[in-house]
Amino acid sequence: MIEDKNPLRTPIEQLGEFGLIDHITKSFNIQNSGTVKAIGDDAAVVKFEKHTVITTDMLVEGIHFDLSYVPLKHLGYKSIMVNLSDVYAMNAVATQVTVSIAISNRFPVEAVEELYEGIALACMNYNVDLIGGDTTASNTGLVISVTALGEQDKDKIIYRSGAGDGDLLVVTGDVGAAYMGLQILEREKAVFKANPSSQPDIEAYSYLIERQLKPEARKDIAKLLEELDVKPTSMIDVSDGLSSEIIHLCKQSSVGMKLYEEKIPLDPTVISACEEFNLDSTTVALSGGEDYELLFTIKQEDFPKIKANPSLSIIGHVLPQSDGIHLVTRSGEQIAIKAMGWNSFEN
Ligand code: ADP
Ligand code: MG
Repeated sequence: MIEDKNPLRTPIEQLGEFGLIDHITKSFNIQNSGTVKAIGDDAAVVKFEKHTVITTDMLVEGIHFDLSYVPLKHLGYKSIMVNLSDVYAMNAVATQVTVSIAISNRFPVEAVEELYEGIALACMNYNVDLIGGDTTASNTGLVISVTALGEQDKDKIIYRSGAGDGDLLVVTGDVGAAYMGLQILEREKAVFKANPSSQPDIEAYSYLIERQLKPEARKDIAKLLEELDVKPTSMIDVSDGLSSEIIHLCKQSSVGMKLYEEKIPLDPTVISACEEFNLDSTTVALSGGEDYELLFTIKQEDFPKIKANPSLSIIGHVLPQSDGIHLVTRSGEQIAIKAMGWNSFEN
């Protein structure tokens, strides 16, 4: 489908590896003074005044994305977002990325251009520099591996391990929408396969689809928390669903947690889509994933500073480890949160 959309199909062999790299990277500008040398030498050179944060994520066709409904530009944008989200989850400022791709000859140069348009837009919007990468052939699919670098003062970096008994659990934005966006895209793909002349019916779900295809990492939260004079005790980004992120925080901090079902922030369109798909919206929030929101704990005394903020929801609190990790349902029932998401059949 992607190939059909673009009338121009220049084979990658025509440019060769070096020609392709030159072609796709020539329009990137450097925005950070810490970027000493970007693309073009044997290695990039960066200079940091503070501690350096490094993270890598790989996206594999057929595992993490399906090109029959993910436009390459969105894929490029998202591949940067998933990495920046991890930098922001350390409370660091993202500064540079490297992008490595393995690509089969079924993709023309124009497809790579589209991918890099998304990467360039993400770099521009988030003030990060593309400083290098690698390009190689692949037998079948497309693989994108991004490494992001960031920096922060030693004492401002926030780990998963700092949550303490009595702390409040806070999540930014809302959760579950990206997962429901994926359900809608999968459904429309199936409808299209059955009847290629059908028009996709996705208008009512634009927020959900945007959350799936064009996630935005929470660059703004570090600044917001500084303005509010709140320093989280622990933090993680929500990439795999609330339940597994809560378990990570609890394990690393050696604490227990209570999460309140009624407090989980859901967009109204998530609730209506869940009804339509006959899914439980709490399960979607707990196990869905790809929200790229931040989940963190704060000291109880900081409650007044954040309570009125529309970007922040208090969804639970920290307990001693021996109390375990539980969801408190709307009816007051306590259900253990398990590693593989939320198991509604066990207590
Ligand atoms: P080398 O052979 O020294 O590894 P390459 O020919 O692989 O060099 O890359 C040349 C330059 O282009 C390097 O600066 C490298 O970081 C950059 N580069 C290669 N592939 C990509 C890519 N897919 N995206 C961004 N930069 C790339
Ligand atoms: Mg190389």
